[in-house]
Amino acid sequence: MTTPIDLRSDTVTKPTPAMREAMLRAAVGDDVYGEDPTVNALQERLARDLGFEAGLYAPSGTQANLLGLLSHCQRGDEYIVGMDAHTYRFEGGGAAVFGSIQPQPLVQDDDGTIPLASVEAAIKPVDPHFARSKLLCLENTWHGRVLPRAYLAEARALCDRRGLSLHLDGARLYNAAVADGVAPREIAKHFDSVSVCLSKGLGAPVGSVLLSSRKLIDDAKRWRKVAGGGMRQAGILAAACLYALDHHVARLADDHRRAKQLADGLRGLDGVDVAAQHTNMVFIDVPTDRLNAFRSAMDKAGIRMSIGYTPRIRMVTHLDIDDAAIEQTIAAFRDFSRG
Ligand SMILES: *Cc1c(COP(=O)(O)O)cnc(C)c1O
Repeated sequence: MTTPIDLRSDTVTKPTPAMREAMLRAAVGDDVYGEDPTVNALQERLARDLGFEAGLYAPSGTQANLLGLLSHCQRGDEYIVGMDAHTYRFEGGGAAVFGSIQPQPLVQDDDGTIPLASVEAAIKPVDPHFARSKLLCLENTWHGRVLPRAYLAEARALCDRRGLSLHLDGARLYNAAVADGVAPREIAKHFDSVSVCLSKGLGAPVGSVLLSSRKLIDDAKRWRKVAGGGMRQAGILAAACLYALDHHVARLADDHRRAKQLADGLRGLDGVDVAAQHTNMVFIDVPTDRLNAFRSAMDKAGIRMSIGYTPRIRMVTHLDIDDAAIEQTIAAFRDFSRG
């Protein structure tokens, strides 16, 4: 049996030996008291790199987004968000559960943008009948796609004109920046707050950081404690994040190249339709009547992918997927396609 190839998500990476070394050496303190030097260094570094006053380390991207929503919005406010956005669909309805914040989901275009005319039309009048429209949430990358930077600037202008704040779910902000060949702050600069995942393509085991103004981060810190996300000697984890920022950003280009190789290798195979490939993600369709055969062929070949969360099958490249894994995957698809 060959080593399993796990393409379900870029969250499945294991810390490298050098990253574990960095974790072992981390200086730590009690972060609930604000005394963990490594957590502080991570927060300050990301704030500086992305152009914000302050940052806050959280145990997950879901929590970092939630803390942003809770800090921007009061009970009875609403956030405008894409129908397929993570912050609406995949976070358990947390904003409503914990914040009494109403989501206003809107249909997205194929490129992940929410048409700004529909955002504008969804903004509620100031009137006791309506929730108070407070925040627009975007996601970049979205299904691996990089949002056009001109769109971000237009969204910013709309928010300024209509008095909304603008939050970015930047779980894969670094993939977007590397793919576009710009500094991440060129993307972040349009937003009032940004969340970044260190545990996706960047390869750290745990953690996300919320970036914003000092005032919003002070509020978010309070909410983090309320949500049970105040960690103590979290510097052991933050050290892995700092290591990732030093060593795993430029190499995201390798993930993007391999995703493209994978998509190119599958094009034209019988029984597989490559629907999209952007940055580190490949989406395919397999006809329903061949899905069971497909599952067992991939099981047998030791290849895992995300089947079932959306109609599309998703494969994601990451730190633990090398060129050989891509070749092996293409070969397994070829066998399935012939069979
Ligand atoms: C993974 C992800 C998050 C946060 O996920 P956690 O698993 O909670 O860390 C948020 N937004 C997007 C787009 C994601 O892919």
